[in-house]
Amino acid sequence: MCSLDEMVILETRQSVREHCKALRAKDGASIGFVPTMGFLHEGHLSLVREARRRCDHVIVSIFVNPTQFGANEDLDSYPRDAERDLRLLREEGVSGVFLPSVEEMYGSATRAKGDTYVEVPGLSSVLQGALRPGHFRGVSTVVTKLFNIVQPDVAVFGEKDYQQLAIIRQMVRDLDVPIEIIGHPTVREDDGLAMSSRNVRLAAEDRLEAVALNQALTQAEVQAGKGGATIEALRDGIVKIITDKAPRGVIESVELRDARTLQAVEGTTDRDVVALLAVRFGTVLLIDQRVIAVPAA
Ligand code: AMP
Repeated sequence: MCSLDEMVILETRQSVREHCKALRAKDGASIGFVPTMGFLHEGHLSLVREARRRCDHVIVSIFVNPTQFGANEDLDSYPRDAERDLRLLREEGVSGVFLPSVEEMYGSATRAKGDTYVEVPGLSSVLQGALRPGHFRGVSTVVTKLFNIVQPDVAVFGEKDYQQLAIIRQMVRDLDVPIEIIGHPTVREDDGLAMSSRNVRLAAEDRLEAVALNQALTQAEVQAGKGGATIEALRDGIVKIITDKAPRGVIESVELRDARTLQAVEGTTDRDVVALLAVRFGTVLLIDQRVIAVPAA
């Protein structure tokens, strides 16, 4: 077994279990967990720092999970750079990095779909789930597997993937999973574009236009802050900005939903809403979100 003070690279489920057991045995230390698909950026690293603030040790997983990609999605072209990721995580004082193969996670590459799965049907079938059938079932199943392997005290997820975070929270509540789920705000580039591993695949012109997503969300927040705006007006405002400022983008969805339940809302509401955007530039699907607090009447 390696030293507990140095970052270890763990490729098997068994080695993760042993490592985490050894960490816990040392003064009952707590473990924070950050699941990722790698090609790390400041957004991921801010989740790691959040886990570090809350726990004695941090475990990060890097696994591009095939079961959450549809047949025509970018599994093969998903960017990867394990060496760089490991260097960044070492600098953050991470205790262990779980880097499993598909075979290690699912028994064999062809059995990746498995027989048993975890699904949160209501939240998984709307919004991104309607556009990407099976995506969230893949996410909730792999996250459950990772939770069972690492058995952390705390797990940190980004609010950028707002629907994913809502699904994980619901799953943990419904199945009495003894892990505290923490949501962390979206980290952005200087010009406001939400950081994403997929941003490197944007064509130069698309990268320039992609800032429109954040601009549209900011404008909706300002409009809502003045009071009286209907959901429909906020939505129209967002669509107009993206259409005007990002003509190369194809809007896949612009939705304003109850921030807590993700249920549809209409007209004026006294509840906080979340604006959820999905815009495609070439083959790259960008998503972004903003919770818009409704001003007190
Ligand atoms: P991914 O590697 O894209 O699966 O993301 C791993 C985790 O990082 C998820 O919980 C994401 O929500 C989170 N994440 C991705 N991008 C950002 C960002 N720009 N800011 C904060 N968290 C992020």
